[in-house]
Amino acid sequence: METAIIIKPHHFVDIISSLGSRKLSLEPHPYGHAVAKVTALILTSPERHLVLTPGADDICRPCSHLIHGVCNDTIDTSWRPLISPSKYLWNLTIDWRWFHLLGLKPGDSLTVFEFCQLLEPHLNDLPVVYEELPAERLAQRFQYLKNGLKFVRDRYT
Ligand code: SF4
Repeated sequence: METAIIIKPHHFVDIISSLGSRKLSLEPHPYGHAVAKVTALILTSPERHLVLTPGADDICRPCSHLIHGVCNDTIDTSWRPLISPSKYLWNLTIDWRWFHLLGLKPGDSLTVFEFCQLLEPHLNDLPVVYEELPAERLAQRFQYLKNGLKFVRDRYT
């Protein structure tokens, strides 16, 4: 069996959204993280298993911002003043919201395709997870995720 991908729920959602944004890049990132590599794995195998975590995942592992297992990066709060500038804290917030919304818990395992199917009925719940984001950004996220899920559905069914 193929090796499972350890991944934060929001990282998976971001990857599927990037498929729907037409801004998908498989170029290495200056941070050194593995988003391009994990995206390529997800794209080539809808049956690959994901193991969910709220902590550092396979994308974070080679990242220059991962220090002793904790992300030390900061985020631009100029357009989202209600969120913490700590990426570590913001990620924990949205990952736990995804866990609760989808009825999942850390350590749960499901395939790429199963996770996409689980997301479909929750498209309209994006404001629950990203409640601090402005409406126009939420609308954009909604459209990208919708497109990304359609991309997966069209490609693999
Ligand atoms: S360590 Fe932080 S910046 Fe690096 S991939 Fe993980 S969440 Fe992103």
